[in-house]
Amino acid sequence: AVVANHLIKHFGDLEVLKGVSLEVPEGSVTSIIGASGSGKSTLLRCMNLLERPDQGELGIADEAIRFTRNPQGDITGLDRRQLQRLRAKVAMVFQQFNLWPHLTVLGNVIEAPMRVKGLSRKRATALGEHYLARVGMADRRDAYPAFLSGGQQQRVAIARALTMEPRLLLFDEPTSALDPERVNEVLGVIRGLADEGRTMLLVTHEMHFAREVSDQLVYLDQGRIAAEGTPEEVFDDPRCRQFMAPAA
Ligand code: ATP
Ligand code: MG
Repeated sequence: AVVANHLIKHFGDLEVLKGVSLEVPEGSVTSIIGASGSGKSTLLRCMNLLERPDQGELGIADEAIRFTRNPQGDITGLDRRQLQRLRAKVAMVFQQFNLWPHLTVLGNVIEAPMRVKGLSRKRATALGEHYLARVGMADRRDAYPAFLSGGQQQRVAIARALTMEPRLLLFDEPTSALDPERVNEVLGVIRGLADEGRTMLLVTHEMHFAREVSDQLVYLDQGRIAAEGTPEEVFDDPRCRQFMAPAA
């Protein structure tokens, strides 16, 4: 399982995460919903250590880290090797794809496995080609991102995440930047990964999709979890209903 325990994160005086705890059991899908500014992306970025939590604990597979604020006010709790190991276990897919424009599709997919996991180019390429095929992008392996549609770029970004063979996949509004007619090709890939039993944590505004694909739903409100449970439980929770009324 992947566990976050009482995560606290400030940006200056602003407390963005006010003690968030959640558990994503192995092989299950958890979706996070909540208003703009409620801290959804910050929570994901903390789970990936793109942001360093001020306090709390993270447990990923068999490794745990505890973040503390030392008396000098520096954030401690991570050494570089531990950071590298944890980053290899968690992969993220971003709203804006974030592909490297100067690398081909295959180049994008094999970079992190070589750099972060130390795989040989040959091994990374074999894995990369496997996962590009998985998302239907094998035939575009030599293309540059600028020549792909948004939906294709996002599928490459998903293949890039999969090629890390992570324990946890994070998705931050993976379809929000897409043209409407491209949304389903990406949701279809994510649905397939859920059916395969991948462990995933997903931020989405696609309420119908969240309901259908998630084992667990978390409603984040101003940096706190205001409701959590099965999709049915959360969608029926009055606090959450109010939030979802316009979208649902
Ligand atoms: P959205 O639905 O718009 O993506 P969100 O729930 O993902 O919103 P976050 O991006 O996590 O929200 O932001 C939560 C709060 O933290 C916001 O008030 C935001 O302005 C602030 N914030 C996020 N990142 C930073 C940063 N790097 N520096 C300062 N403030 C930040
Ligand atoms: Mg966000």
